[in-house]
Amino acid sequence: MISLHDKKRILNCADTDPNKILPMKYNWAREHYKNGVANNWTPEEVPMQQDVELWKKRGGLSDDERRLILWNLGFFSTAESLTANNIVLAIYRHVTNPECRQYLLRQAYEEAVHTDTFIYCCDTLGLDPDEVYNMYRTIPSIRDKDEFVVQMTKSIFDVRFETKTTQDIQRFIHDLVGYYIIMEGIFFYAGFVMMLSFLRQNRMIGVGEMFQYILRDESVHLAFGADLTNAIVDENPEIWTPEFKKVIAENIKKGVELEIAYANDCLPRGILGLHADAIKEYVQYIADRRLERIRLPKVYGSENPFPWMSEIIDLKKEKNFFETRVTEYQTGGALDWDTAQI
Ligand code: FE
Ligand code: MN
Repeated sequence: MISLHDKKRILNCADTDPNKILPMKYNWAREHYKNGVANNWTPEEVPMQQDVELWKKRGGLSDDERRLILWNLGFFSTAESLTANNIVLAIYRHVTNPECRQYLLRQAYEEAVHTDTFIYCCDTLGLDPDEVYNMYRTIPSIRDKDEFVVQMTKSIFDVRFETKTTQDIQRFIHDLVGYYIIMEGIFFYAGFVMMLSFLRQNRMIGVGEMFQYILRDESVHLAFGADLTNAIVDENPEIWTPEFKKVIAENIKKGVELEIAYANDCLPRGILGLHADAIKEYVQYIADRRLERIRLPKVYGSENPFPWMSEIIDLKKEKNFFETRVTEYQTGGALDWDTAQI
């Protein structure tokens, strides 16, 4: 007799009840759920006084710095709700497995927190919402990234889309890689480096801390997306053909190009000790990690120019999150914000 556990599948699982989460099969989904909960935070708990002072002070920020902050807020403000919509409207319908759905619900909530973060930043800094929320149309390098994701993930948004045939399942994986690996795993990362560079200089520390929390959330989203992709491939090995792997790798490479174009656009002169060339190296480095995570060969062989980024992601959050400030992490010896070299 086949046990319930063995009958569970990620896609096309008509024989099991989507409301029966136990016994659980995909323990990684449960782990990611718990990691998400352990990372709980809300933007209003992060003070922004210093940010407001610096933002409003004449000469507090250079024109280039101000533009870089605005663009990153512009990109993230709409990208976060794009991801939330993807999860709720497209992915959830097809992934009927209850432990994966539990994670998707958690992720959807986190995307709501991220959307809330940019509302809070706009309100507190007194930004023009029409300017910020229209950047996905008015700034070409932001528009190109968003359009790429929307185009690449079109098919599973179609209400008639099903995951019955080999081709359908390939299409589903194609789009999942678009959401999780490219959007959340590549398109957010030049922005993370830029905004966390301010934090390392103790400037715009409220915004920087919020980006740090978002980065930790996103690293879990990415891990879930990669595990989901790998599990679907394992259950449907016929989809993972050399041609299909090539299509996926090409999409990721195109994503890398768009992210590098965005970084060049954000950093025309190099500020904050950052240079667009270093960001290029970094984006290639993380793209290699993403490729390997979904079992594809790496492409670039670039070194990580910002090892401090991995330290931020890897820092274990203390039990009492809001009593643990970044400066206190230093005492653990994990990170030294003042002397770390960019
Ligand atoms: Fe997010
Ligand atoms: Mn996310």
